Amino acid sequence: MVHDYLLVGQGIAGTLLAHFLLQEQQKIAIIDADHQESSSMVAAGLVNPITGRRFVKSWHIDTLIPFAKATYLALEKQLDISIFDPKEVAMLFGNIKVENDWLARSADADIQDYIAPKADLDFYRQFLNNVESGVEFTQAARVKLRDLILHYQQLLQQQATYRVTTFDYSQLQILPDHVVYQDIKAKRIIFCEGYQAMNNPYFNYLPFKPAKGEILLVKIPNYPASQKLIKHGIFIIHWQDDLYWVGSSYLPNYEYTHPTEVERKNLETKLQQILQLPYEVVEHQAAIRPTVKDRKPFLGQHPRYPNLYIFNGLGAKGSYLGPYFAHQLVANMEQQIPLDDLVNIDRYQNLYVG
Ligand SMILES: Cc1cc2nc3c(=O)[nH]c(=O)nc-3n(C[C@H](O)[C@H](O)[C@H](O)COP(=O)(O)OP(=O)(O)OC[C@H]3O[C@@H](n4cnc5c(N)ncnc54)[C@H](O)[C@@H]3O)c2cc1C
Repeated sequence: MVHDYLLVGQGIAGTLLAHFLLQEQQKIAIIDADHQESSSMVAAGLVNPITGRRFVKSWHIDTLIPFAKATYLALEKQLDISIFDPKEVAMLFGNIKVENDWLARSADADIQDYIAPKADLDFYRQFLNNVESGVEFTQAARVKLRDLILHYQQLLQQQATYRVTTFDYSQLQILPDHVVYQDIKAKRIIFCEGYQAMNNPYFNYLPFKPAKGEILLVKIPNYPASQKLIKHGIFIIHWQDDLYWVGSSYLPNYEYTHPTEVERKNLETKLQQILQLPYEVVEHQAAIRPTVKDRKPFLGQHPRYPNLYIFNGLGAKGSYLGPYFAHQLVANMEQQIPLDDLVNIDRYQNLYVG
């Protein structure tokens, strides 16, 4: 059988691509190395409209959030699981400088739709230290990426060709109108390996700038704010039952991909500084974000081999960049609708040396 598409990698990028391709009745095959080193499996899946010390509105967010929500709700229905968990995000400040930055920004028209009614700071002061001030934003959410990926894998195992193995680039044969990989024949191949695409000889010319992140999964019995996404220096986000996701570090320079003692201590110190409740660290994890020099995704066709594509560069925002741009790539491949210039890998054609 000739497949329409062979996908390499089933993180959130590969999962969403598979979803939109199956909607187009395409025959697909997927190869994934058992989610090894998958960033999606470690991520909190936070959808955060306003970010950073300067309260910047995330790029394209007015379009990305509604599209992401609609996509995840459709997948919830299809898989009969909970994926998209809408919540307010509380950004709490321990010093006057950040509060002043916020006050200067808070009147700007572009963010008014995202500001929640006044936050009840006394609620947070019952279990967190150093809450001088704060603000809550609406339209935030947690996307349960890990649950989605594992359940979608089961669906793919029924509706597609699915192989749990590491793709070996040296075995790929590229022919004029199809590719062959071992016993799989496909008209096109799409690479979605996250940061591991830096080992991909066809696309490693693209300027990845990966950043490691480490997190803790922490048991906090009787934590009263499981309904909020809290950012107070670090994030505390409900994971499941009485487990909370605490993180994360952002390390552009790293020596190892595995979790390190230094970062565990850093995260625990930050947690101890703010949390008044007893806790127990249950897991410590690390992964590498597929971040990119210009912070925009990588979509499109290989400059030399037209049946090779990439979907990558989701950086630190895969949960809400993923749905819109997976859909855009499928519309480009199936209906020749042009890609947004800002995400098209053509912008880096000058780096390709053939
Ligand atoms: C600590 C941390 C926290 C984060 N928090 C958030 C957050 O709150 N919100 C948010 O939106 N984003 C967050 N991110 C970023 C998010 O994880 C990424 O944007 C997104 O998961 C990238 O998805 P991906 O599918 O491109 O890559 P990945 O999830 O890394 O998936 C790549 C897949 O390809 C497979 N693969 C790779 N090479 C091969 C090969 N040769 N053969 C076969 N299979 C292969 C891997 O096994 C893996 O399954 C966070 C990241 C980290 C590290």
